[in-house]
Amino acid sequence: MRETETTAEARRQMEICNACRYCEGYCAVFPAMAMRREFSTGDLTHLANLCHGCKGCYHACQYAPPHAFGVNIPQTFATLRAESYAEYAWPPAMGRLFERNGTVVVLVTFLALTAVLLLTMGLQDPAILYTAQTGTGAFFRVIPYWLMTGLATVTFGYALFAMAMGALRYWRGTAPGAGQRPITPAPVATAAFDILTLRNLGGGGHGCNDLDDSFAQKRRWLHHAMFYGFMLCFAATTTGAFYHHFLGWKSPHHFLSLPVQFGTWGGVLLCIGTAGLIWVKTVTDPVPVAKKLLGSEYAMLSLLFLVSITGLLLLVVRHTGAMGVMLAVHLGLVLAFFLLLPYSKMVHGVYRGLALLRNAQERGAETGAAPAKAPSGKATLKAASAS
Ligand code: SF4
Ligand code: SF4
Repeated sequence: MRETETTAEARRQMEICNACRYCEGYCAVFPAMAMRREFSTGDLTHLANLCHGCKGCYHACQYAPPHAFGVNIPQTFATLRAESYAEYAWPPAMGRLFERNGTVVVLVTFLALTAVLLLTMGLQDPAILYTAQTGTGAFFRVIPYWLMTGLATVTFGYALFAMAMGALRYWRGTAPGAGQRPITPAPVATAAFDILTLRNLGGGGHGCNDLDDSFAQKRRWLHHAMFYGFMLCFAATTTGAFYHHFLGWKSPHHFLSLPVQFGTWGGVLLCIGTAGLIWVKTVTDPVPVAKKLLGSEYAMLSLLFLVSITGLLLLVVRHTGAMGVMLAVHLGLVLAFFLLLPYSKMVHGVYRGLALLRNAQERGAETGAAPAKAPSGKATLKAASAS
């Protein structure tokens, strides 16, 4: 990770926090910070990705703005996280897409929708888009099976490969050389537990400062709705593929079938999670927020909301003449989402997962070892006040 104005600012604030340590019980960041005496750009990137943006430390901080120290960890770490997504993106030239991500999301969505509609009309009789199709294989009479699965496989495969390459670059970049530890089952299990429960959005037990200085669990539950909704939609697709290839059962399936039930509940949870998170962003206290990233966050949440709502609408209109257009629109939105996945805020799931894994490794290694001694509090705070 390159040295930037943001890394210099994050280092200044971490040195103040390392002398203060008031927020030690809030999340994983402060104990991880306390293991370090100096902060390389790799350390700061790791700590920034470990931060879940709960804003607890900002609302508790006696040195937050308008204090001269100006400690605003959630805002600084959010900016640093965005810089790390661009730095480790694969291929590296695509990292520039993060800068104007809101515009890119709109453009790619428009192009993907147009491409799917044009392909459908070019390969089929255009009338099929507004003629009711029923019975086995109805969806594939509108968009051929080979085209639907081909487009989804290529775009999702590309997204997975690009994110895996980004993850590798991040893992090496945040702990170069001797800092790499072997990955063993115990830290993997700890990190998986932290990811699945979003433990670090608990604010040490009483919740986050979602909107202001009062504590709540809204953001944690909305994140859960989005994450588990996404996983249920993924389960719907894989069970549908299993039915098609191994049992010869072609969609559309009965409403009570596994793929439709997974997809329905997944879609509902995704709609609630994305709409709720958009609402939280519009009403939250703006000071501990990185404002220049808001456009891209709104754009990706809106795209995921549209993917889920069109999936649900497809279920509603699947036996009517509106099914063809709805299917093409839903597929176009899904393709846009896959293509943008490695270059959007959504990659935070990958980097945060790796940060939690590294944190679990460090916690395991620290057990029984003496904690690293922080620099003298008085000296650090004096230096910060002088700067
Ligand atoms: S109170 Fe402020 S300076 Fe102290 S650890 Fe928390 S965020 Fe850092
Ligand atoms: S914003 Fe929340 S998660 Fe991030 S460092 Fe502060 S207390 Fe920890």
